[in-house]
Amino acid sequence: MGQISHGTETTFDVIGIGFGPANLALAVALDEYNRSVAPDQRLSYRFLERQATFGWHRGMLIEGTTMQISFLKDLSTMRNPTSDFGFVSYLHAQGRLAAFINHQCFFPSRVEFHDYLDWAAARLRHAVDYGREVVDVRPVAQEGDITELDVVVAGSADHWRARNLVLGTGLRPAAPAWVTTGDRVWHSENLLDRLRQTTLPAAPAFVVMGAGQSAAETVQCLHDRFPAGRIHWVFARYGLSPADDSPFVNAIFDPDAVGTFFDASAEVKEALLAYHRNTNYSVVDGDLIGELYRRHYQELVSGRPRLHLRRMSRVVAAHPDRDRVRLDIEYLPSSTVERVDADVLICATGYLPVDPAETLATTAALCKRDTEGRLRVGLDYRVETTGTMRCGIYLQGATEHLHGLSSSLLSNAAVRAGQIVSSLTGRDERRRHERAG
Ligand SMILES: Cc1cc2nc3c(=O)[nH]c(=O)nc-3n(C[C@H](O)[C@H](O)[C@H](O)COP(=O)(O)OP(=O)(O)OC[C@H]3O[C@@H](n4cnc5c(N)ncnc54)[C@H](O)[C@@H]3O)c2cc1C
Repeated sequence: MGQISHGTETTFDVIGIGFGPANLALAVALDEYNRSVAPDQRLSYRFLERQATFGWHRGMLIEGTTMQISFLKDLSTMRNPTSDFGFVSYLHAQGRLAAFINHQCFFPSRVEFHDYLDWAAARLRHAVDYGREVVDVRPVAQEGDITELDVVVAGSADHWRARNLVLGTGLRPAAPAWVTTGDRVWHSENLLDRLRQTTLPAAPAFVVMGAGQSAAETVQCLHDRFPAGRIHWVFARYGLSPADDSPFVNAIFDPDAVGTFFDASAEVKEALLAYHRNTNYSVVDGDLIGELYRRHYQELVSGRPRLHLRRMSRVVAAHPDRDRVRLDIEYLPSSTVERVDADVLICATGYLPVDPAETLATTAALCKRDTEGRLRVGLDYRVETTGTMRCGIYLQGATEHLHGLSSSLLSNAAVRAGQIVSSLTGRDERRRHERAG
């Protein structure tokens, strides 16, 4: 194991693509693994991240928003409760442990959790190249077998060569096909940046599309920041649905649930995803629903409504010009369309996983597919590949159909990272025996 140089090239045991929380948890697991084994057993690793610095959904780091998971589901605790990368170690390092305990809080603010992730990322700075967007992965053949992979980065002639890859490329914003984002049409993922960059009138009009957590947080943020502003909140439902985070249901995010889900038949998997979709998709934290309803009701009492609920409705077209956007909003029960002028349309229309095959590009042809064209992936998150491939390709995220609802979330990040390290080292162990034999 270890790092081998080929002139200007270096072969790493593991290259991680993306450095969000999933691959950050992997970096922590690799760091702890290396600290626990003899020097010649250590794995060399590197992460390539397209952002210029570490950032976790920075555009939605709205003051006052909280995590949807317990602080104990941090980067390492569920895998190794004695890890010095846990949230408690972070609090201790910041001198805030006692204050946090007095706060009696299970769900820290997103701002604080981001600071925690940033603290962990800074400790692993040596293992990350920022500002590197991976655009292709090319197989390197030796005597007919593919033993290494070349990771190609946009606009760079440098080579990153690996024996194993772990993709942690996360989510990308989703919106209806007719949406083109621009100065007056935003996706919620950039909310805070856009608000900083855009000059708006003193009493702006916003249209927010969507009925999930991001939409509700966006509405609350605009309502707070623009006391004279108006917000048209457009969603197809009658009302907002609360996120189910009740304890029996929440167990579906436990590490043990992953194997149970993986082994279930396709029908059972589909049923479980449908039963418990309301843990994560198109749902809003119950307290936030209560707070928004309180504001709505106060405005009914005062007779000065600023938050206009446009239920059972959808935006069907947007016509932006220089500093306005004209919208067609359909009221679904009567199919009537009303034209509304606004300063900004915000699409809080969610996210979809990045398709790993896109990132793998050339190498995707060497990956096996299921009947629906998706990559075949094992319980250990390793992609099944064709016969000549000797490299491991692992996926973090984008496997909800196989590993269940925690696939794209933080709940299982620590344990999954440990399982990937076990898979990597188990296989390397076997290969060494094969070579020795
Ligand atoms: C506003 C918001 C709040 C959320 N809150 C929670 C929560 O409280 N609890 C929870 O469990 N989940 C939450 N989620 C879900 C979210 O998916 C996870 O929190 C988390 O981001 C998953 O981590 P990840 O590393 O898989 O993906 P990401 O955080 O999306 O990280 C992926 C990284 O890969 C990089 N990348 C992508 N493609 C490339 C490429 N080709 N080359 C190089 N780098 C690349 C990206 O720049 C990014 O930094 C939230 C999501 C949002 C949008």
